[in-house]
Amino acid sequence: MLAARMYGYKQPLVLEEIKTPEIAPDQVLVRVGGAGMCRSDVQLIDGYFAEAIKPKFPITPGHEIAGLIDAIGDSVPETAHLAVGDQVVVAAGWGDGTCRQCRVGNEQICEHGSWPGFGPPGGYAEFVPVPYRQLIRVEKQLKWEELAPLTDAGVTPYRGIKKLRAAGVIGPDRVMAVFGASGLGSYAVQYAKLLSSGATVVVFARNEEKLAIAKERGADYSINTRGRSLGDLRDELVRLTGKAKLDAAIDCVGAVETIQTGFGLLATAGVFVSVGLVGNRIDIPLFPFTAGEFTYHGSFWANYADLQEVLALAQKGKIQHSIKRIRFEDINENLELLRSGDIIGRAVIVFDLPAGASAHKDAKDMVSV
Ligand SMILES: [Zn+2]
Repeated sequence: MLAARMYGYKQPLVLEEIKTPEIAPDQVLVRVGGAGMCRSDVQLIDGYFAEAIKPKFPITPGHEIAGLIDAIGDSVPETAHLAVGDQVVVAAGWGDGTCRQCRVGNEQICEHGSWPGFGPPGGYAEFVPVPYRQLIRVEKQLKWEELAPLTDAGVTPYRGIKKLRAAGVIGPDRVMAVFGASGLGSYAVQYAKLLSSGATVVVFARNEEKLAIAKERGADYSINTRGRSLGDLRDELVRLTGKAKLDAAIDCVGAVETIQTGFGLLATAGVFVSVGLVGNRIDIPLFPFTAGEFTYHGSFWANYADLQEVLALAQKGKIQHSIKRIRFEDINENLELLRSGDIIGRAVIVFDLPAGASAHKDAKDMVSV
């Protein structure tokens, strides 16, 4: 099969023919239909995660995976309701299954976890082996390019916004901000509207084209932050919303500056959640943080149940996508565009594969989305 593999840091991926992987008894072989391209793939290539995951080369990156079941391991139970030909997505974040976090369903933050594309082979290949427990069957067929990104870009902000909702800071007469309008941000504005029960949603970013898409996706207002001071941004916020402060914010960028801007605009008892990882540190003044009783949540990727919820929304047609379809052979030039921030929406490698039909005779009995 064809795979795009990484042999070292700061080098282009090598597109090469390799042996199609064998599956373990508890694994399923997925023929990849779509593989989303994430900025964290560029970070992986640049060595951002070198300390955290100490990978063994070569690595096949690609952690946003949707495909068709091609083969099923001998010990996969019937109760998993998986069949050859099913359209599936891969929930990333494969925990040990035994620790406290795994037991409550948060395998993506398991201390002994792994993630496809960051060690175990990922979706930048024609086939990928996946533990059967990490697959979610898609009942109502979706396009590959609309399915693959849901497993990270389309679910990570969802989990973050659920934390804001649980904190009780979104609702009518509240102002909620989304920082960033790229892959994650263009999904975040939609969840902000879906989950915020009438809050005013304001998107902050530096690119006019991306801001315009975020407004089409449902943001009430957009503010271009390029070259503007905190005071300028506050004035603009007042002009647009009548309020000078944000009750809640999700940061899909994660630069030192977006975190500073977010906290600089946060209202007393406001809540900020970080999902973006562009930078590598947090630098905010302590006194306003403590005296304002701010809350700061980290939110990492999403768990299996979060992804099931997002897939349910997608299958009801409630999620809009901004997609750039990529041919596999163009992967390296698109990684460069991703590095420079020049991709609008989500880039997805789409393989030549029909969406597929389930081999199940009686799908009604199945528990899935
Ligand atoms: Zn665990």
